[in-house]
Amino acid sequence: MFKAFIRKYFKNFTYFYQYLRHRIFVVILLTFLFGAMDGLGLSMFLPLFQIAANKESGEATAAVEDNFLTNFFTSVGIEFSLLNMLILMVAFFSFKGLFYYIKSINDAKVSRYFIVSTRKNLLEKFSRLSFRYFIKSDVGAIQNLMTNEINNLLYAFRDYLIIIQKGVMVIVYMIFAFAMNAEFAILIILGGLLFNFIFQWLYKITMSASRKLVKESNNYQGTIIQLVSNFKYLKATGFVRDYAKRVTGNIESIESVNYRLAKIGSVTGAIREPILIFVVASVILLQVYVRDSALSTIIVSLLFFYRALTNVTDLQAQYNYFLGKVGTMENVASFSKDLDANREVNGKVNYEKLHSSLSFQNVTFAYGDHHIIKGINLDIAKNQTVALVGESGSGKSTMVNILAGLLNTNGGKYYINGESLENLDKYSFQKRVGYISQDTVIFNASIYNNVTLWAEKTPENLKRFEDAIHRAHLATFVGALPDKSDTLLGNNGINLSGGQKQRVSIARELFKEVDILILDEATSALDSETEKIIQENIDALKGQFTIIIIAHRLATVRNADKVVLMSDGQIIGSGDFEELKNSSLKFKKMVQLQEL
Ligand code: ADP
Ligand code: MG
Repeated sequence: MFKAFIRKYFKNFTYFYQYLRHRIFVVILLTFLFGAMDGLGLSMFLPLFQIAANKESGEATAAVEDNFLTNFFTSVGIEFSLLNMLILMVAFFSFKGLFYYIKSINDAKVSRYFIVSTRKNLLEKFSRLSFRYFIKSDVGAIQNLMTNEINNLLYAFRDYLIIIQKGVMVIVYMIFAFAMNAEFAILIILGGLLFNFIFQWLYKITMSASRKLVKESNNYQGTIIQLVSNFKYLKATGFVRDYAKRVTGNIESIESVNYRLAKIGSVTGAIREPILIFVVASVILLQVYVRDSALSTIIVSLLFFYRALTNVTDLQAQYNYFLGKVGTMENVASFSKDLDANREVNGKVNYEKLHSSLSFQNVTFAYGDHHIIKGINLDIAKNQTVALVGESGSGKSTMVNILAGLLNTNGGKYYINGESLENLDKYSFQKRVGYISQDTVIFNASIYNNVTLWAEKTPENLKRFEDAIHRAHLATFVGALPDKSDTLLGNNGINLSGGQKQRVSIARELFKEVDILILDEATSALDSETEKIIQENIDALKGQFTIIIIAHRLATVRNADKVVLMSDGQIIGSGDFEELKNSSLKFKKMVQLQEL
């Protein structure tokens, strides 16, 4: 039970501690020093009151009551004169100012540290995420996490920082209150507990509403993103309004949760102060009529009491805000855990270039228990052009995903230059792989950056860029653009035709200086005229790269060194085009159907 208690109350602390380490204790120490200076400064009112009282009653020497402060002054021999007391007071408050300054600077520093390290951490992990995990995840949820949720996490952190500091301040004032008058301290604790008790159930409601909110808003983001990315289809088929209606449902349910959170906030705001004042009034009554305490002690104690309670109130309010973001923290934490668990496994052997072959030995691959690739043996020699053909769903794309090292085999081995892929540093290998599919990748950036992926504009890179666009037959097009290679592409710039996009993709891979060029139905989305031109571009690269090409239109693979016919995850025939046509009835039929 004790463990459960610790876990509940220190879960959040541990959460932030794992990022901040010793920094969190520096925050606590500085707040403590700041609070202590305030406490000491305020304590000076006690001797001041007593000096004033003595003056009025006409006594020469101050008969000061025993307390921790006066005892301390007596022991170090400071006289209880008005001047001494005022100088000390000014000194304490000056130190308070100094510590406030140091503390604020430190807060800003710690916030910056937290922001930078959480963002970097998540980005770092995401960039190492395995592709297999990525394709089965909800892209909308991931986008929401990496943009909105990470922002919310920072707000949660700021709240928590304030909570810690308010908490420390409460403790400091309680220590002073204890030192002044132990009875008061007990009353403070009782008051705080009463207060806490009343608000406890409100937190519970806020917490579950906040979790629901995060879930709904992930849903919402996902649907919106799909609406936008599939807009053309939805529009063309008249589904766009029905789809938008689904989104409307989401909006309403998010806003009703938001409304509930706001209602709870209103209740909390309305009843906080009356309850607080009620507690204070009870304490005064108790002290004056029941305990018969001295007025000066009561005033100074009340001062601490009041400050402590103000801090408790602030803390409660801040805690309430904070709880609204607990869903976020849990979400980011579980995402971060998923990223860790699905980290790409990577070997150590550095890959430089392809010098012998790519080789599959009895390779199998499955999604869960859905077997996609069923024992494939295939050799692709350096600079060979190999075509994969077969009906859709036969596993061609999966094959090239494995070849590119995006997906790992479930059984069998994949050798590159005779070295098993699992021993290779995948990043060094993938740096030499070019991948072009029908979903062209165009960034919101200049044509130069689209091709070079933000390579520095050195004379050497500029030359390579020129060379790449020449070989991709883009040079004339780029030359005619208003800003030449600085012309912006994508949403914020000019929109390219399908064929131009494909040529940009080709130029990108040529700039990259790859060994292996993978083309997965790269030209299937294009009209046959454009396809022909692109195909000629690709044909011109034959023999210079190791090319693996998946093509729907068989005419495009006529010149391949080897054509591999796939069916249901297996190879059912291979050879050059003519050989395969003679040896495989199925391939012959496919060729005849396309009237070649
Ligand atoms: P092809 O490119 O030959 O059309 P694919 O390699 O894309 O075929 O797909 C092969 C099989 O794998 C298909 O049956 C498809 O349904 C299945 N498949 C593809 N991607 C996934 C996925 N992410 N999860 C589960 N099954 C998948
Ligand atoms: Mg495919």
